[in-house]
Amino acid sequence: MTGALVIGAGPAGLIAADVLARAGHRVVVTEAKPSVGRKFLMAGKSGLNLTKVESADSFLAAYGAAAPHLRPMLAEFGPDAVQAWARGLGQDLFTGTTGRVFPRVMKASPLLRAWLKHLREVGVDIRTRWSWQGWDEGAVFDTPEGVQRLTPDVTVLACGGASWARLGSSGAWARQMNPEDIEAFKPANVGARVEWSAHMKRHFGQPVKGVALGAGPLHSRGEFIISASGIEGGGVYEVSAALREGAPLVLDLLPNMTEAQIADKLNKVRGRDSLQNRLRKALKLDPVKQALLMEFGHPLPDDPAQLLKALPLRLAGMRPMDEAISTAGGLRFEALDRGLMIRHRPGVFAAGEMLDWEAPTGGYLLTACLATGRWAGRHAAAYQGSAAAF
Ligand SMILES: Cc1cc2nc3c(=O)[nH]c(=O)nc-3n(C[C@H](O)[C@H](O)[C@H](O)COP(=O)(O)OP(=O)(O)OC[C@H]3O[C@@H](n4cnc5c(N)ncnc54)[C@H](O)[C@@H]3O)c2cc1C
Repeated sequence: MTGALVIGAGPAGLIAADVLARAGHRVVVTEAKPSVGRKFLMAGKSGLNLTKVESADSFLAAYGAAAPHLRPMLAEFGPDAVQAWARGLGQDLFTGTTGRVFPRVMKASPLLRAWLKHLREVGVDIRTRWSWQGWDEGAVFDTPEGVQRLTPDVTVLACGGASWARLGSSGAWARQMNPEDIEAFKPANVGARVEWSAHMKRHFGQPVKGVALGAGPLHSRGEFIISASGIEGGGVYEVSAALREGAPLVLDLLPNMTEAQIADKLNKVRGRDSLQNRLRKALKLDPVKQALLMEFGHPLPDDPAQLLKALPLRLAGMRPMDEAISTAGGLRFEALDRGLMIRHRPGVFAAGEMLDWEAPTGGYLLTACLATGRWAGRHAAAYQGSAAAF
């Protein structure tokens, strides 16, 4: 066979296939699962936050240490381009107050359907239940018709990270790589475990809003949810990279007030009232926040202002990696050239969550998957064009 092979039909692989096909190449996409884009569809269940409108610098800063590597890809296909791309596929978008961009229908299936229709029109051949097993003389696949081999001119690997294995991204692909090219996977955007006392049960499922979280160098003003097993949601995910390294989690229950202002308000309602009544009357502390204060601050000091500003939460560890929204680790950028080609595997490129970068939720994940997928596809197309000698 001559042509281009894309392994993995998530957003990174599908956009790479599109670029390769538009550049005039014959493209086969192989996908291990019976259907494509399963994690993308799961992302749609929470509304499909495609990208975020903010300054280019602050957008790039969300990728931390990987920002210098991702800079050219995001410059070429950043938030504006992602929105234009989604609109081009017929999606009406809206931007929330925090700058997060969603399809108006708040789900992924219409976008994925339009995308697949377009890919069929540009001639992309998608083969599901084709699970890549590694290389011998070619790329080897387990398929319903038995073992198959493809010998493409160029390959884009887009097999995803190592969470939500049931949706296809198990990280098993890492076994096919040189071990020194792989940074160990770690959970990113993951909840934390808490061993709650019995009185917290009635708060399970409730959101905690209008707070600030701090862990090591990371801070978040996002909300989170109390679940039976701990705490989860955007606010926790934003600081989870520090939590997984062991940083303590500190909760500011009243981020819009100083400690002195809190103490002042509490002093004004001193008297026969219980401390709980004073917290409610003077500070309008809602029942969930009061419960958290009792859970982690008991026995409360007479003047709890300091505790309200910096309540240490006792965590029992993080939720398992398979429950993480995304993963850090994967193929090191040092193992790749500027076009995202694996240095020791000429003609094989990699994109998406396979690469060693992480970012908080907020549209950063899909944007970087699309940007790296497009970049890898573009460089693979150019490589094939100049590949007469190999
Ligand atoms: C609950 C949830 C909500 C999310 N919400 C958002 C959100 O709102 N915004 C956002 O930006 N991000 C969100 N994400 C993250 C986002 O979905 C992922 O970052 C993104 O899907 C990764 O894209 P990818 O193409 O790199 O990998 P994936 O989407 O994981 O796709 C990889 C594909 O490769 C296939 N594959 C793997 N191994 C093989 C093999 N050996 N052979 C053949 N095929 C293989 C897999 O089956 C899979 O289809 C969410 C994730 C989850 C779990």
